[in-house]
Amino acid sequence: MMHKQAGIVCFLLIVFVLSGCHSTKTYQWGVHDMNRPQPPVVTPGKKNHLPPSDAIVLFDGTDLSAWQGGAWKVENGYMEVAPDSGGIQTKQGFGSCQLHIEWATPEVVAGQGQGRGNSGVFLMGRYEVQILDSFDNPTYPDGQAAAIYGQNPPLVNACRKPGQWQSYDIIFKRPVFNKKGKLISPATITVLHNGVLVQNHWVIEGITYHKKRAAYEPHADKEPILLQDHGNPTRFRNIWIRPLND
Ligand code: MG
Repeated sequence: MMHKQAGIVCFLLIVFVLSGCHSTKTYQWGVHDMNRPQPPVVTPGKKNHLPPSDAIVLFDGTDLSAWQGGAWKVENGYMEVAPDSGGIQTKQGFGSCQLHIEWATPEVVAGQGQGRGNSGVFLMGRYEVQILDSFDNPTYPDGQAAAIYGQNPPLVNACRKPGQWQSYDIIFKRPVFNKKGKLISPATITVLHNGVLVQNHWVIEGITYHKKRAAYEPHADKEPILLQDHGNPTRFRNIWIRPLND
């Protein structure tokens, strides 16, 4: 009799533990919550980085041969979003990588919140590191510059002034799915903004959405990097990548 009871207790314990494993994550803050604390402001140092010898140069200031999509213009060593012509994406697909990219929001400030210098770097075309003029421009913290959009604000606000060149150095590990499309391991991301750590091995919760919790959907092991057209003439230069083994 005792043996049977012990078996039942053991069974219930296993059910309890398993159900706990499948409980949905609780969140302290809602998506795009304006009450979420604003990250502290940090003034970055002055220099950005040129590509190392083993990098694939995606844009060296001269042409868009590595890209396809919107009718963005190239001049004076940078490319510029042609607003409402669509985003551009790399012709080549990438998975895990180290990515360096420099960007500048318009020097003449127009708009506010999400409407000021909005663009974004979408790893694998899906996971957005937000680009925004977040210099004296409050918005919801999970949507400011260097946020993993809709998920995680940056640790600090390391934005330079509008019109100045800024850099992201991104270390990204792609998500892994099994043959049935089930997520085996989520993507992770570390981001330095102007050399300052702003995302520290964040476990990406899924595809970037607006006003909706991120969620994963299966995709290929390598996908293009996409730069967003959000209607603002944001500029880019010095883009290089180092593919990493998983
Ligand atoms: Mg964006």
